[in-house]
Amino acid sequence: NGRLQNGKQGPAHHSTDNSLSKPLNEKRKALLSARKALPIWPHASEIRESLRGVRDVMLLVGETGSGKSTQVPQFLMNETWCNGCIAITQPRRVAATSLARRVAEEMGTPLGSSSPASKVGYSVRFDTSTSPSTRIKFLTEGMLLQEMLRDPWLRQYSAVIVDEVHERSVNVDLVLGFLRGIVTGDNKGRRGAPLKVAVMSATADIEGLFNFFDEGYAAAGKIKSQIFTPGPQADGEDSSESSWSGLSSPEETVGKTKSSGDQTVHIKSTFISTCYIEGRQFPVQIMYLPEPVQDFVETALRTIFQIHYKEPMPGDLLVFLTGQDTVEALEKLVNKYAQTMGPEVPKILTLPLFAALPQSAQQRVFQRAPPKTRKVILATNIAETSVTVPGVRIVVDSGKAKIKQFRNRLGLDSLLVKPISKSAAIQRKGRAGREAAGQCYRLYTEQDYTKLETDTVPEILRCDLSAAVLTMKARGVDDVVGFPFLTKPGREGLEKALLQLLQLGALNEDGKISETGRRISRLPLTPALGRVIVAAADEEMGCLSEVIDVISCLSVENIFLNLNTEDTKEQAEAARQELYRRQGDHLTLLATVQTYAAERSDRKAWAEKYFVSHRAMQNVMASAPQRSTAHSLSVDHRHNQLTSTQDVRKQLRAQCQQQKLLPATACFDDHNTTTSEATTIKILKCFLRGFASNTARLMPDGSYKTLVGNQTVTIHPSSVLFGKKVEGIMYNEFVFTNRSYARNVSAVQMDWVGEVFAP
Ligand code: ADP
Repeated sequence: NGRLQNGKQGPAHHSTDNSLSKPLNEKRKALLSARKALPIWPHASEIRESLRGVRDVMLLVGETGSGKSTQVPQFLMNETWCNGCIAITQPRRVAATSLARRVAEEMGTPLGSSSPASKVGYSVRFDTSTSPSTRIKFLTEGMLLQEMLRDPWLRQYSAVIVDEVHERSVNVDLVLGFLRGIVTGDNKGRRGAPLKVAVMSATADIEGLFNFFDEGYAAAGKIKSQIFTPGPQADGEDSSESSWSGLSSPEETVGKTKSSGDQTVHIKSTFISTCYIEGRQFPVQIMYLPEPVQDFVETALRTIFQIHYKEPMPGDLLVFLTGQDTVEALEKLVNKYAQTMGPEVPKILTLPLFAALPQSAQQRVFQRAPPKTRKVILATNIAETSVTVPGVRIVVDSGKAKIKQFRNRLGLDSLLVKPISKSAAIQRKGRAGREAAGQCYRLYTEQDYTKLETDTVPEILRCDLSAAVLTMKARGVDDVVGFPFLTKPGREGLEKALLQLLQLGALNEDGKISETGRRISRLPLTPALGRVIVAAADEEMGCLSEVIDVISCLSVENIFLNLNTEDTKEQAEAARQELYRRQGDHLTLLATVQTYAAERSDRKAWAEKYFVSHRAMQNVMASAPQRSTAHSLSVDHRHNQLTSTQDVRKQLRAQCQQQKLLPATACFDDHNTTTSEATTIKILKCFLRGFASNTARLMPDGSYKTLVGNQTVTIHPSSVLFGKKVEGIMYNEFVFTNRSYARNVSAVQMDWVGEVFAP
């Protein structure tokens, strides 16, 4: 039929856009010319060359938006060595799904499972969409790690592209460690064909990566490279681009030097090649506040309207905030004030962008604004490097981000709102200069800017490592301290993780993974939540279906809408009384899912009545009948719009059935809206099995003190137990803003906690 079936065209004449024989329609023509305008386009043959022959590793640096994520897999897919699939990892699900969609569009192929002929797919937690012909698969780092547990040599892939390494998530560090093992070890033997690895970054941190792979080759008894001087570092405020293009192939560069300004590069490696894509950055004018401010949401609101009145169109705004909470708060405020604008003022279209947002809502940021309308995108640091939004001319930077940090005293990760690093501030600013000269309004003083840390600390140095350690153990790494980490985590952090896994029963006394641990490692959940699932599957407990309902709610954005006026708050409280359970948030979530599921007629109206987010509930359980049973993605071809709901509950049920935690024939009763007292206790005990260390007891003065660390915690105002006094509490999350808050809280008896600690 004239289609390229397996991409086996000779390398010389395969432009990547000939995969369809149909004439290019207008849209594809436009897409193609947009691709050709990307800074990476002229480097296509250099990039292909970089992975030919014995060269198995390519390190590629290029600014955000230069086209790395969308183009590199297309450049490589027709190489002669590439007869399998190319995996391309992303730290965030939003990026994985939106990039897959974009690349499918560029290639003129349907996306994922919508057609068996689709060449581009994706796989993110609770949502996988691929076809038998998938050649390019975008997936989160976590999903690739999951696949590695099943297929340690990644036999289904010809190449793995590790994107956004500069983000340095724990998962990317693990992925790199495992990949180094594959390429420097017996790269061909066990797999039949070598695995090619491309590592891509938006910042020039190549030296560390180069040495990391190089040491791997050296340790495997292969030649070690001799000297390496890094390329030019992205220089702070100077947005001028590096004016040189990279070194194409190691053979060419052996013994040669190449200079750029006063930098000299001298590389000698047989296996690793490096590639630099020169940036294309227009100047961005920076504005600081004269005085520091307390409330950045309010300041952002004022700044947005000042800009809107002052700055001519076109020019969309991108505002960097800290999380879903601040994004939604500002969205409401902006919409409210926008209503008071006169008819002569251009309209404002607010678009939220955060990780938990469903895909269809995320995709809206890429659409063009209607005439005489300014897009105001309210984003978390997701838009820093992961997602490039076209049309942005002005950036408003709160200077803050929510980051995960391990709190030793508490023994768990908590989300803290913290000042960003200089390199993050520079990335944020850069978003304004993609298409034309731009402006960046920093909602902090110039002096505060100078005080920022230079770089963001890699997650592995600041986070709970239990999931990482469990992944390593499940993949057969016995000596986790000896694992090839790009940055070695502290011994203490690793030991804590080992201890926690031991306490969860995921490891045996000898440090080897237990059967329970194996089961947990295959679930797309944290070890603690995984443990809850395994506990609930236990015959004695037998409350897995209920526990899955609760965990599904915990895995999506907030179920209960945040209300900002006293009036609506009171109304909502009154309406929700029916759903609230005295035992706390877990059973309240269960009651909410159960009544929602039992509602057969109008679920949207139901959600409105209870002030529940219909969007969030649809991600817990899709209400429309699904076309495919494997996953919950459907494509509306008329509008070429993705209407995707995650249906987390269904995914978790399927996972549990696969693992035989649930019988394959399990039937679920969606008419049941009550849970017996005995079952409620069982459910809470299961949660305790995973969260015994997240417990606190009531003190005589009415405060709660944690059992581990003896810290004071306050029940979060969003909890149904807010202001209540119970003997003990157990919580899933710890949030630190101006106080230490426990979120998702339930009442527990202290003797239950004792049972878990001394089983
Ligand atoms: P990089 O990986 O270097 O940051 P990308 O390949 O992600 O660059 O992006 C290249 C271009 O493709 C960007 O200009 C961006 O606007 C566009 N693009 C990426 N994803 C989408 C999408 N889902 N919809 C529309 N445009 C997109």
